[in-house]
Amino acid sequence: MLKINGIKKGIVIDHIKAGLGYKIFRELKLDQADCTTALIRNVPSKKLGKKDLIKIDNKIDLNLDILGLIDPGLTITIIDNEQIVDKIKLSLPKKVVGILSCKNPRCVTTIEQKEDITFTLVDADKKEYKCEYCDTRTSL
Ligand SMILES: [Zn+2]
Repeated sequence: MLKINGIKKGIVIDHIKAGLGYKIFRELKLDQADCTTALIRNVPSKKLGKKDLIKIDNKIDLNLDILGLIDPGLTITIIDNEQIVDKIKLSLPKKVVGILSCKNPRCVTTIEQKEDITFTLVDADKKEYKCEYCDTRTSL
């Protein structure tokens, strides 16, 4: 078990499916954060076999939609004063804005390079979302 020592105040993103940690790190732009961050890969886990883990040495705003989209099974622990003050469980978001892009080359969002497109969940098992403009299904 990895202990949360060394963090007085911050966030631990735990139980990330092995291999997805780097993607989350990149999508949350943690490589550009001012505070100390750590991505730990392939941590042995009873539940998952292997898992990834991210530590952030400060309290920052996390985009829970991005996290839920990439891995709804992960857990977020908020630490303050070396104590766990909050645990957040995620689920697959019903709607995401500005995270996915449409795969249809003829879609207006591709042609006009629109951003902040809304995608609505249509298949939770396959994590498929549909584009608000052309209904094309896509997943992350
Ligand atoms: Zn589209």
